[in-house]
Amino acid sequence: MNIIKSLFVVLFLFTSVFATTGSAASKNLTVHLINVGQGDSIYIKTPTGDDILIDAGYKDGSDTVIYLKKQKVKDIEMMISTHPDFDHVGGLDEVLKAYKVKSVYAPKVQHTTQAFKDFLLAVKREGVKIKTAQKGVRLPLKGVIAVFVAPVKSYAKSELNNWSAVLRLEYGKKSFLFTGDAELASETDMMKSKQKLQATVLKVGHHGAKTSTSASFLRAVKPQYAVISVGKNSYGHPTSTVVNRLKSAKVTTYRTDKDGNILFTTDGTKMTVKKVK
Ligand SMILES: [Zn+2]
Repeated sequence: MNIIKSLFVVLFLFTSVFATTGSAASKNLTVHLINVGQGDSIYIKTPTGDDILIDAGYKDGSDTVIYLKKQKVKDIEMMISTHPDFDHVGGLDEVLKAYKVKSVYAPKVQHTTQAFKDFLLAVKREGVKIKTAQKGVRLPLKGVIAVFVAPVKSYAKSELNNWSAVLRLEYGKKSFLFTGDAELASETDMMKSKQKLQATVLKVGHHGAKTSTSASFLRAVKPQYAVISVGKNSYGHPTSTVVNRLKSAKVTTYRTDKDGNILFTTDGTKMTVKKVK
């Protein structure tokens, strides 16, 4: 009797250990900063398998769609348009044509460009209503905490960059801050609002322009890694001011124009970074 009982205990222990390690192996959060030239496009896969896309570059969206297909993405649970500028919103309509998208988040600001009109039309065709991205809005996701920390308030229509939806994503001890093109005014408002801004990885604001990533904002975020999403451009992005500021703060910085697609993988404790073709 005792032998059978012990056998059961051993069998039970074996199965539970196996089950734990088996599931732990797939419980990674991956964040891909896709090289779309001058613009932003970020793909996130949560530990429970939800697919999130932030922006899709300036072109027809083909870079993003090709990349997502390579990653075997089947549908997109959440799409975030940080702000209506063409180098962010430009490719989202093509992604909406290629994929079933369950929900779309965007800040409450309009723009008159064709790129933005195409985006609105594609969202309408998809049959979804845009949810407002603003400070305090939490994405309904399991296993991670994803909260918009900006826009904190309304800005003038001419200040499109400051309207950028800024998402802070947390998984265990690791975190990310995706800033869109938020500039100094938004950075100051985020800091004043006393929200948690600290992040392991900072997606540098506005392609490394000197109107973003102030010294005090960098101190508040305290990143270990930074990524500048940038391509050939006539704006002088990224500026040496920001590049040097990151360097002197000892932040390991990647650039999509030099490093290609950047992939972060974390189990909530460890973080690895890889450059992927
Ligand atoms: Zn931009």
